[in-house]
Amino acid sequence: MTRGKMTQEKMTQEKMTRAEKVGAAGQLPQHDIFMHAALEAARRGMLAGEPPVGACLVTGGEIIATLSNAVIGELDITAHAEMRVIREACGQLRRLDLSECTLYVTVEPCLMCLTACHYAGITDVIYGAAIADMNAITGNELGGSPGTSLSDPMSLKLEGGCLAAECRALIASWSGGRQVD
Ligand SMILES: [Zn+2]
Repeated sequence: MTRGKMTQEKMTQEKMTRAEKVGAAGQLPQHDIFMHAALEAARRGMLAGEPPVGACLVTGGEIIATLSNAVIGELDITAHAEMRVIREACGQLRRLDLSECTLYVTVEPCLMCLTACHYAGITDVIYGAAIADMNAITGNELGGSPGTSLSDPMSLKLEGGCLAAECRALIASWSGGRQVD
């Protein structure tokens, strides 16, 4: 892992590297460990006023990047958590091919993020809450499930439902009871 400025996110990455060893001892399923890292990022993002989505990019059992959505803070509509971890990983690894990586994200990726996965060669995507859960609040999400016409040409393996209850609860607490009809 690159040792740079000790940002909150990097500190979390280090913490999760230690947690991985717990996973190796068989106490926690690996998917849950990485989704917990994504959830932690999502919570931090929400506290900073962002939509509560976090992503964690993993290769060879090691976390490369864990980041939250940052569209508001960065005034960048493309700063979804998935886009940010992909950018961060390309920068850290100095390459565009992330085909060995698995993406963990608290909410099912939108089509923009799935497309970024496609170009980065990421085929394994594990998510928590469905994009429909987010759409129920924002009314503005583009669905990205396999089987939709736009994601058909991509060879992605999407697996949903990882820590889904926690991921959904975060969206619910963010929404404050607000729901789109
Ligand atoms: Zn997205």
